[in-house]
Amino acid sequence: MEFSQLGIAPDLLRALEDIGYSVPSPIQEQAIPPSLEGRDVLGLAQTGTGKTCAFAIPILQKLIGEERLPGFPPIRSLILTPTRELAIQIYDSFCDYAKYTDIKCALVYGGVSQYPQIEALGEGIDVLIATPGRLNDLCGQGYIDLSDIEIFVLDEADRMLDMGFLPDVQRIITRMKYAENKQTLFFSATMPKDVQKLVDHLLREDFERVEVTPQSTTVEAIEQSVYLVDRENKKNLLLWVLRDPAIASALVFSRTKIGADRVARDLRRAGIQAEAIHGDKNQMERQKALNDFKNGKISVLVATDIAARGIDISELSHVINYDIPNEPENYVHRIGRTGRAGMSGIAFSFCQADEVPYLRAIEKTIGKKIEVEEANPYPMQEEPKEPRGRRGRSGRGGRKRTPKAQQVQAEPQTAAPAEQTAEHTSEPSGEQKKKRRRPRRRRKPSGEKPAQSAEA
Ligand code: AMP
Repeated sequence: MEFSQLGIAPDLLRALEDIGYSVPSPIQEQAIPPSLEGRDVLGLAQTGTGKTCAFAIPILQKLIGEERLPGFPPIRSLILTPTRELAIQIYDSFCDYAKYTDIKCALVYGGVSQYPQIEALGEGIDVLIATPGRLNDLCGQGYIDLSDIEIFVLDEADRMLDMGFLPDVQRIITRMKYAENKQTLFFSATMPKDVQKLVDHLLREDFERVEVTPQSTTVEAIEQSVYLVDRENKKNLLLWVLRDPAIASALVFSRTKIGADRVARDLRRAGIQAEAIHGDKNQMERQKALNDFKNGKISVLVATDIAARGIDISELSHVINYDIPNEPENYVHRIGRTGRAGMSGIAFSFCQADEVPYLRAIEKTIGKKIEVEEANPYPMQEEPKEPRGRRGRSGRGGRKRTPKAQQVQAEPQTAAPAEQTAEHTSEPSGEQKKKRRRPRRRRKPSGEKPAQSAEA
């Protein structure tokens, strides 16, 4: 199927051609026709499937075909998305797709001065892309009126609720006047109960449900393996892995913000250009790091889950999980940063003894075992902490391990001091020392708050 068969306006087709899209992705093929008919759509799709274009094209087409009201034009379409990075990417896509039209788009998100955003709104816009907090702020201050919204997109609804935005989203919904003909395009990667409630509340009865690439099949295209390693050797292992000339650039994930900063600093000290992005960095810093990574100025970007959500970097070949995420869903999102648009990708995970239960939960979710890397100069010495009921069934988790003599001895197996490599440093240093003196096997997993709970 070609885009031209979907009934898309010539000005939009030309723009798509300029960008180099020749055939619609499955979500576009399924979601564009009902959206063009004016129907509500529930799209079960995650970032990387081409969903932005799936909702942007029908919106632009509807707006091109409508006459603007005289005087100051009302905002006619709202796209609500959870993170600043996603908002910026969606805005950029809208600008690309709308380049042969006179549709005007604007962007509002928090963490930066509101005044340039207010100025842009003052010029009169058709489409607004926003994150919930700043949008509510500006509505409250009277700069934005949502009562004429004709098409509303709720993007990444599951992540929006995970991040605690439900009250903001509800407030925004009440700010949009109910209109019989208001169209809603609703996108979510998963359908937990709260998301289902929103669907029931927002979508008209005859909505079209479209679903593409269930998460487990998306990850099938990605080569995945795990290094079993002690926590204090993760830094050295990362440096060793990054020595491979096949890894020109890599996105490295850390569970915590403090950990992301530390990994980036350690890499820079070792002469590798690296930056961290997370919710404690301001928007300028985050955008700069992302641009530097995209332009090849830095070769490693270290990110937390939320900061990385929606990052769109074409041709990202490697994702490295410095920490095993404690939610399997985050693993899928993380490795989904590679292997996009049909490309293959490689994902390595570093798993320490007390992360083995997380690894098992991930394997259960994706429905397959993740292969253990045997060429590992820093093999785990600690006893892996298998989930209850599995321990002792087949030695160390039943995994095949390379005998030490055969292991690649690329670097001496000296562990860096724990305070230089430990990820979880929220406790006071005295407490840390006490913890280190305890027998290792009794060490509890860290209680540090995952980055996502504090980010927005
Ligand atoms: P999204 O899921 O909207 O974030 O899109 C993921 C990536 O796929 C982006 O880099 C898009 O530019 C790209 N993309 C979207 N639609 C197409 C298409 N029809 N053909 C090729 N690439 C596409």
